[in-house]
Amino acid sequence: MYLCKFEMSMREIRNIAVLGSTGSIGRQTLDIIAEYPDRFAPWLLVARSSADLLISQARQFRPHMVIIADAQYYEYVRDALEDTDIEVATGSAAIAQAVTAPEIDTVVTAMVGYSGLESTIAAIGAGKRIALANKETLVVAGELIDRLLKDSTSVLYPVDSEHGAFYQCLMGERMEDVEKLWLTASGGPFRTMPKEQLAHVTAADALKHPNWSMGAKITIDSATMMNKGFEMIEARWLFGVEPQDIEIVVHPQSIIHSMVAFKDGSVKAQLGLPDMHLPIRFALGLPDGRLASDCRKMTIEDMANLTLERPDFDKFPLLNTAYAAASTGGTAPCVMNAANEIAVAAFLQDKIKFTDIYRIINETMEHAPLVAHPGYEDYVQSNAAARDYASKLAALTV
Ligand code: MG
Repeated sequence: MYLCKFEMSMREIRNIAVLGSTGSIGRQTLDIIAEYPDRFAPWLLVARSSADLLISQARQFRPHMVIIADAQYYEYVRDALEDTDIEVATGSAAIAQAVTAPEIDTVVTAMVGYSGLESTIAAIGAGKRIALANKETLVVAGELIDRLLKDSTSVLYPVDSEHGAFYQCLMGERMEDVEKLWLTASGGPFRTMPKEQLAHVTAADALKHPNWSMGAKITIDSATMMNKGFEMIEARWLFGVEPQDIEIVVHPQSIIHSMVAFKDGSVKAQLGLPDMHLPIRFALGLPDGRLASDCRKMTIEDMANLTLERPDFDKFPLLNTAYAAASTGGTAPCVMNAANEIAVAAFLQDKIKFTDIYRIINETMEHAPLVAHPGYEDYVQSNAAARDYASKLAALTV
């Protein structure tokens, strides 16, 4: 665990790399960068395939470099920025190379899914401060990332709202005094729906998240509660706690962002409005201190009706799957993540039912061989094999 105290540093402008700048977290990160022009400057923007938005972000923010990961859009982006001095590149090797540039201070990892792993490893190797929004990096390869961080000056700051909450509750505390982490979950759009009806819900139903405005993949992960399973694994690696010491608690209003219980019986909670700008602002402020903002502030009414309940593991079986994968360790969480990416993509295209997502993940995990102590290449191979197997299961599903 890499908790820090606030340290007032020299207050130079920090150069930021935003990986996944056209996604939901990436766009909100650029909002925060624009809010504090005397503190942050975007140096590198990376997008997968949203070429037009990347071009308009480049024109607005004038970074040193942009990378469009999907090579088919490279010439289009390059030509559109021809009249500027912005460097344009393409491909995953270019991303892994660019994040190591000495000018970059902080790397915000906001790509979707497994694709975030390689560049996060490169940023750790270069000793960057990392604002981690790509939780799948820790789900897939938490063991490896943990090892790499021990040999690096790199620091991970969580952007995920729950993990930002844990971080804030743990500031000034000793980890040996912690009894339990309470990870809050909104419960998603199907919290009150009878289990039998879940087989009939559509992608459009699942995309209606009650509180948070997020990208499509994480919104489906939230509906299945896979997201909460991922966040349990993310918390385990970020804070060095055992999975059984992380308890999920459903809190439909998403005002309490998570809580820490201590061995003297005290509980600390962090509260805030459900707006991702807040945890991004906190993460980017580290380690210098909190960034003052004119954002809407919480009122008594916002906190007047807070409820907590236990999650329904029977209705949302991927919670069990995630705890099992965490305790098995090795490549098991990597396989779970790969199968989930395939199943969610198939569900978003209306090719499979909502409940097929669990079946595809569990069957892929049963089939996949386990590597107990994986290196980077084992993750690459496990990911590819699991995606392949899950794709076959999805194609067979009618
Ligand atoms: Mg979260």
